[in-house]
Amino acid sequence: MQRDPNCVFCKIVAGELPSRKVYEDDLVVAFHDINPQAPVHILIIPKAHVASVNEVEEEHRAALGGLFLAARKVAEALNVAQSGYRLVVNTGRDAGQDVFHLHMHLLGGRRLGPMLHR
Ligand code: AMP
Ligand code: ZN
Repeated sequence: MQRDPNCVFCKIVAGELPSRKVYEDDLVVAFHDINPQAPVHILIIPKAHVASVNEVEEEHRAALGGLFLAARKVAEALNVAQSGYRLVVNTGRDAGQDVFHLHMHLLGGRRLGPMLHR
């Protein structure tokens, strides 16, 4: 499994940093965002280190598909599947990407504005 020793999310995957996990399987893990922007704000990440969408390769296909499968399950488990939710993947400086381990935000539990998550 690809890993970056300085990456915060790799440390969460390895259990070296705490997180409030809501879902885990072989390829992905989902946990509560530490600074929630909505009543439901979950981060869904591949276990393998991929810095951003700019570094996505064919070998990541299964894990990236797994992000959407996990999103569906998390949305159902946290009761926003019917009310609705937004999936956001920030990539690079102009999008405000802060953590360079690819992650999907799942935001819901309130009426979201026309702008993306902030
Ligand atoms: P982005 O701007 O898309 O890179 O978002 C990074 C997100 O990671 C932000 O919403 C942070 O609140 C969140 N975050 C950073 N560190 C942690 C952590 N240790 N546990 C949970 N969420 C985190
Ligand atoms: Zn990482």
